Amino acid sequence: MATLLDGRALAATIEERLIAVIGAGLAAAGRPPGLAVLRVGDDPASGVYVANKEKACARIGIRSLGAHLPGDTPAEQVLARIHALNSDPAVDGILLQLPLPHGLEEGPLLAAIDPDKDADGLHTLNLGRLLKGEAGPRSCTPAGVMALLAAAGVELSGRRAVVVGRSILVGQPMALMLQAADATVSVAHSRTSDLAALTRQAEVLVVAAGRPRMIGAEHVQPGAVVVDVGIHRLDPEPGEGPAARGKLCGDVRFEEVEPLASAISPVPGGVGPMTVTMLLVNTVTAWCRRHRLPTDALTDLQR
Ligand code: NAP
Repeated sequence: MATLLDGRALAATIEERLIAVIGAGLAAAGRPPGLAVLRVGDDPASGVYVANKEKACARIGIRSLGAHLPGDTPAEQVLARIHALNSDPAVDGILLQLPLPHGLEEGPLLAAIDPDKDADGLHTLNLGRLLKGEAGPRSCTPAGVMALLAAAGVELSGRRAVVVGRSILVGQPMALMLQAADATVSVAHSRTSDLAALTRQAEVLVVAAGRPRMIGAEHVQPGAVVVDVGIHRLDPEPGEGPAARGKLCGDVRFEEVEPLASAISPVPGGVGPMTVTMLLVNTVTAWCRRHRLPTDALTDLQR
């Protein structure tokens, strides 16, 4: 039986740590940490994600200071809102919820976020800091994967890691973080020939291809650690009725791979909860830095 990389349980432990850090610094800071989630338009999935983030903030004592702007808001107004959040002393973290409505270009808006308030860790400067091994907010999903691996005691130094996917959101920063932990990393993408031959070399396999259930037993060497970043909602089963929501699945065929792997993350309950938690970690760390409070209790989560 593979060890389950349980993101829900780990997220709960990290939330306890964040509550302790906030409790220890609150009197000196004179205010709680603040996270502003900026949502533009009415993408339904974004509504659920934003609500989850705000609930997580409320659980640990972060103030939610976000805004929901209409889908036809001109870019200059969104930009003005970002500038206002940049200079708002109550705001430690800013997140622009993606996707944006058609007509709004995400690049210039993301670039306008103060890099030290970049709760998502995706600002060009912060990706550069990751590349150079400098401190700064880390991209939430790959940082969540690193925390899952560390909590399970997975040794990375000298191990062969393969990342499937090369997006800026997940694959690229994931590869950099694994490399910084002294793994030998290969990155696969849609043009990789004979994917299975490459992934079978992986002692640690991280899959972020956005292709439902594409990775099966033929892609995995026995004893590998497998992390499934993908998340998809399948169509409802026949007979489940029109109101039924399909099941969630990942990029990995869990039932096939679990018997082979030494450890594996489930979907749901693996990487997903960790992504939200790392957003909280970035916000609380930024708050500590602004108030010159110690961050050592969180440095293991910011590699
Ligand atoms: P993305 O931007 O679509 O990138 C997918 C990457 O996978 C691309 O680099 C693509 O290659 C590669 N790829 C696609 N098909 C492939 C194939 N057949 N073989 C090998 N590589 C292939 O997606 P993303 O934003 O990185 O997200 C990936 C998945 O993670 C999605 O399911 C997303 O929903 C999920 N996700 C989950 C969380 C979470 O919190 N759990 C957070 C973020 C994302 P090319 O570059 O050649 O196109």
